[in-house]
Amino acid sequence: MLISLIIFLISLYIFGGRTKKSKRNMSNIDNILAFNQQFVASKGYERHITNKYPDKKLAILSCMDTRLSVLLPEALGLKNGDAKIIKNAGAVITSPWDSAVRSLIVAVYELGVNEIMVIAHTTCGACHMSYSEFKPHMLERGISEETLTEWETQGVVAWLEGFHDTEASVRKTVATIVNHPLIPKDIDVRGFIIDSVTGALTEIQ
Ligand SMILES: [Zn+2]
Repeated sequence: MLISLIIFLISLYIFGGRTKKSKRNMSNIDNILAFNQQFVASKGYERHITNKYPDKKLAILSCMDTRLSVLLPEALGLKNGDAKIIKNAGAVITSPWDSAVRSLIVAVYELGVNEIMVIAHTTCGACHMSYSEFKPHMLERGISEETLTEWETQGVVAWLEGFHDTEASVRKTVATIVNHPLIPKDIDVRGFIIDSVTGALTEIQ
């Protein structure tokens, strides 16, 4: 009897939680799908038609921060088709094998890019990011201690470490691109910090 009750309560917790979660997660996506049908039907895409080659032969590595989603291209005067925009947490390149470098290599050799801007931003969430802050949340969300211990031995602590000085981070990422053995020397690489509110660019020398 007691066991049945416990099983019932556990089921309620698991399935109740899942239903609630999936409803919450799906509502925005459902709305997006409905909007999308209207967008296509009303030919909202027509003003954006372009090809895959960036008109300004420019690639930008920036942060995924949502304050920059529209602000960054507008503040730079970029329209659809002008630049390859690569985004990650912090606008950083963590190693020569980072997927952002892979994208830049494609941009340079396949898409004709000859200038690269690294654009970090003010009050970035990746500044001061730390594995020690993720860890308790991971445990809460069901990631086991064993899994975390294994990942810790494989370098997750450094992998999830943010930067502590935005300017230094930009310089480091620019240097990683400039000195990358597979990036040709004729590519112009420059670093910037964009103001997350005004969109003002400051070049980092
Ligand atoms: Zn950021």
